Amino acid sequence: MTPAVIRAESVYKSFGRTDVLKGIDLTVAPGEVMCLVGPSGSGKSTFLRCVNHLETIDRGRLYVRDELVGYEERDGKLHELHEKAVARRRRGIGMVFQRFNLFPHMTALENVIEAPVQVRKVPKRQARERGAELLDRVGLADKAGSYPAQLSGGQQQRVAIARALAMKPELMLFDEPTSALDPELVGEVLEVMRALADDGMTMVVVTHEMGFAREVGDSLVFMDDGAVVETGPPAEVLSDPRHERTRAFLSKVL
Ligand code: ADP
Ligand code: MG
Repeated sequence: MTPAVIRAESVYKSFGRTDVLKGIDLTVAPGEVMCLVGPSGSGKSTFLRCVNHLETIDRGRLYVRDELVGYEERDGKLHELHEKAVARRRRGIGMVFQRFNLFPHMTALENVIEAPVQVRKVPKRQARERGAELLDRVGLADKAGSYPAQLSGGQQQRVAIARALAMKPELMLFDEPTSALDPELVGEVLEVMRALADDGMTMVVVTHEMGFAREVGDSLVFMDDGAVVETGPPAEVLSDPRHERTRAFLSKVL
């Protein structure tokens, strides 16, 4: 059997006295698009940040492709991973945030090729060729030389997606990628994400876009107060939520 891309087993995470993740169990299969929804403060971003090695979990087990995140197991004990090992594992994961986080002093193409050139030591000419292809893939072939300030929010977010793809990730994490956008720019970003999903990319998408979840998602996970309340095929969860908390949340966002 192909291993799950993400496997969370009873994952706990606190900040000081705030318990943020209280026993998360979930798996994401290769090629799956999981949409993660839930009220603000329910722990969605924290979970993605744990998957992407930006936080370490306190308890439980979190695996990406059968490798423990943040730790390695030796002699039956867990040891925290060294920075270099973390950096190596993070390369397989692309992340797109609500804010586009592009380097403002670099053109779109320079943003896209930065990590491959600096981190992967890809020769610049080769990186530029591939960068141009990626910009084409997100519909921005003509914007390679533009600076972020010259691009709309939707265009900047598409550059951010191309930049994440430049590292050839096997997993893409999206944390409310369209929440900061003007409504008329949301569609163009969702279209790029849909195309990525159609190409077979494994994705976890935190979003309030229930239309996207229904049409593109393979699974929908509803989180509340640091726990998974309900999970299932998006159409089922959206039209016939089992739990009162899911129902209450959906009635606000739908
Ligand atoms: P969501 O993305 O679902 O809105 P978050 O994961 O951002 O939720 O946050 C869940 C809870 O964790 C919130 O109460 C938030 O204040 C708290 N939290 C998140 N990050 C930190 C941090 N670095 N330090 C302290 N508290 C944090
Ligand atoms: Mg969040």
